[in-house]
Amino acid sequence: MNIHEYQAKALLKHYGMNVPLGVVVHSPGEARDAAKTLPGSVFVVKAQIHAGGRGAGHFLGESSGGGVRLVKTPEEAKAAAYDMLDRTLVTRQTGPAGRVVRRLYVEAGCAIERELYLSLLIDRVARRITVVASDAGGMSIENVAEKTPERIYKVPIDPALGLSDYQSRDIAVKIGLKGQLIREFAQVMRAAYTAFTTLDAALVEINPLVVTKEGTLLALDAKMGFDDNGLFRHKEIEELRDPNEEDPREREAARFGLSYVGLEGTIGCMVNGAGLAMATMDIIHSEGESPANFLDVGGGASRERVGAAFRILLGDPSVEGVLVNIFGGIMRCDIIAEAVISACREVGLKTPLVVRLAGTKVEEGLKMIEESGLDAIVAEDLGDAARKIVAAVRSRRVA
Ligand code: ADP
Ligand code: MG
Repeated sequence: MNIHEYQAKALLKHYGMNVPLGVVVHSPGEARDAAKTLPGSVFVVKAQIHAGGRGAGHFLGESSGGGVRLVKTPEEAKAAAYDMLDRTLVTRQTGPAGRVVRRLYVEAGCAIERELYLSLLIDRVARRITVVASDAGGMSIENVAEKTPERIYKVPIDPALGLSDYQSRDIAVKIGLKGQLIREFAQVMRAAYTAFTTLDAALVEINPLVVTKEGTLLALDAKMGFDDNGLFRHKEIEELRDPNEEDPREREAARFGLSYVGLEGTIGCMVNGAGLAMATMDIIHSEGESPANFLDVGGGASRERVGAAFRILLGDPSVEGVLVNIFGGIMRCDIIAEAVISACREVGLKTPLVVRLAGTKVEEGLKMIEESGLDAIVAEDLGDAARKIVAAVRSRRVA
């Protein structure tokens, strides 16, 4: 789960990170009033969406603008807010469809001397939390990673020892900090690391971490993501969830306890067991098409869950065909068949459907599907199922 910049900043501040003062707002009037309460004579109005690249982004149908605006007066903050709210911001992370801006963060502006990059993430190869830092922070870190990767430093942290100050100082020197700033950087690292480990984060990214003209370190942007499996331990994080920022298909799936990941392809998959789901996706690929999703209905695929899964698959406009691949181990195939039949009747099947069942009571299950009058194609095994759904989808495309 991801959260907004203003929420991440509040959490990081709690753990000792230095962040600018700011207020989250929902209307132009609130933006003006917020600016009045902030110190200094420069303010920044920032679109709050779960995607980076806002500064270099643009609003749909416009070439200029951007999701981060520097303003000089509360009235200008109001005008900027009017310009941004309820409009669709497109950045290199949102994809061409963009995201609707519903909240803004009005923040005290700061004079920037240098922009650095700092993030903590889990390196699955090293199996450790890893610090990534660079002296070339700001809006073009992607280009730095591509063109001058030697300017990016990676330091894995031993889980038994935790983060040591000497590691922080070492990174600080590598990214060109001197004197007092080295000590300040160690404080920034402690805050980021404590927040990361305490809250079961998956990512903490500060880009840019700036050296101000006054010579202090300040986190000007913050992004945090969390391990969904750890959320039950952190009700305070769960409360920060913004449903508007989540894939509606994934949200609906979560409601029914289904493991669902939306993908780019056209073949909707309903499978029980993550391993079988992965194998199903692979075999669709090897037949030359792509899955529209990963969907694991779980071992005890009940009628409610199968029904919910079908609604999600059939409600997805990019799904051109559905492949059901269920192994009846914990669940019997006849019960699965009944759930599939009733879900298809309820939702209304408009795409080709291939059903492959194996396991307990498989003959009964297949017989029920064949006798149901449903326009379903029955498959023998996984390979047969993949070939049949791919053929059905392709012949429909031609037609
Ligand atoms: P994004 O990464 O989504 O583009 P940022 O929060 O990093 O958004 O903002 C983009 C740029 O705007 C930053 O790299 C920084 O140069 C500038 N900026 C952001 N917040 C402030 C601020 N409070 N004061 C001054 N400049 C800022
Ligand atoms: Mg940024």
